[in-house]
Amino acid sequence: STHPVTVLGLGLMGRALAGAFLRGGHPTTVWNRTAAKADDLVAEGVTLAGSLQDALTANPLIVVCVSDYEAFHGLLDPHGALLEGRALVNLTSGTSEQARETAAWAAGLGATYLDGVILAVPQAIATPDAILLHSGPAEAFEQYEPVLRSLGPTTYLGTDHGLSALHDIAVLGLMWSVLNGFLQGAALLGSAGVPASAFADLTTRMAATVADWTPGYAKQIDEGAYPAYDSTIDTHLAAMDHLVHESEAAGINTELPKSVKAFADRAIAAGRGGDGYAAMIEVFRTPSEVG
Ligand code: NDP
Repeated sequence: STHPVTVLGLGLMGRALAGAFLRGGHPTTVWNRTAAKADDLVAEGVTLAGSLQDALTANPLIVVCVSDYEAFHGLLDPHGALLEGRALVNLTSGTSEQARETAAWAAGLGATYLDGVILAVPQAIATPDAILLHSGPAEAFEQYEPVLRSLGPTTYLGTDHGLSALHDIAVLGLMWSVLNGFLQGAALLGSAGVPASAFADLTTRMAATVADWTPGYAKQIDEGAYPAYDSTIDTHLAAMDHLVHESEAAGINTELPKSVKAFADRAIAAGRGGDGYAAMIEVFRTPSEVG
C-alpha cells in the first residue's frame, strides 16, 4: 500500500529518509529551510512544497528530521493550527523529556504524535542494518508502520513517548563504553609498540563474547539475584587493579581504569564481592556520591 508522506528537514539524514520513502513507493513531499537541498530528490520524483504551510497540509503523515527540538518547535509552533488531525513522526534526536513535552504539545493541537530515533548513519537507511525505534500510541504505530518500514527495520517500544530517546541514549552509552575500552587498550598496547590494528581483531572477538553474556546478566538483573556462575566481583577486582597499575606504569591516562575499579570497590563495600558481575547494577542505580 502507498501512503503519501511529507518530510520536513533535508539535512544528511532527512534527504536519506525522503529518498527511502519515495523508493518505497510512497509519494513524498518535502520542505527544507534551504530549498536547494531538495534538488537531487526532485530529480528523482519527490515534490518540493512551495511553502512550509503547503508541506504541512499536503499529507496526513508528516515526518520531521531537523537538528534538534529547538529547530522542530521553531518550524512548527507558528503553524500549530494546521496540524489538527494529522500524524507527526518526529525523528529528531533529543531527550525523553523533550519527547514527552512535544507529545503533550501535539495532543493540545489535536495531532497524533509518534516519537522515533534512528540508530544508523544516512547511508544505512533502507537497509537491514538501520535500526529505527518508535514510541507513542500503538494504533498510530500500527497505522504508519508500513510507511516507516521503508526506512529500515522498525521496533515499537511502547506508549510512553520518552522511550525512544531513552533507548537511543542507553545504546550510545554502550557504544562509548566499548569505544573507550578499545582506546584504553590501544594506548596500553601502543606503549609497548603494538599498533592499534593488531589489537582490532582481539577487540572484535572479545566484544562479541562480552555481548553474548548480556542476556544472562539481564535475566539476573530482572530477577534481582546474581549468582556467580562464571567469576565473582572479587576476582574481577584483582584484574582491575592490574589495569590501573599497567596504565600507570605505561604513563598513559588512568581515569577510565580508576573509575572501572571504583564501581567494583563500591559493590564490594556493599557486600557484593562474592556475587557475579551483574550485581554491580546496584552501583549504577544509585546516584553518584561525588558530583
Ligand atoms: P544536518 O545538520 O545535516 O541537517 C540539519 C537539518 O535541520 C537541516 O535540514 C537544517 O536545515 C535543519 N535545521 C536546523 N536548524 C533549523 C532551524 N532553526 N530552522 C529550520 N531548519 C533547521 O543533520 P542530520 O540530517 O545529520 O541530522 C538530523 C537529525 O537526525 C538530528 O537530530 C540527528 O541527531 C539525527 N540523526 C542523524 C544521524 C546521522 O548519522 N546524520 C544518525 C541518527 C540520528 P538547513 O538545510 O536549512 O540548514
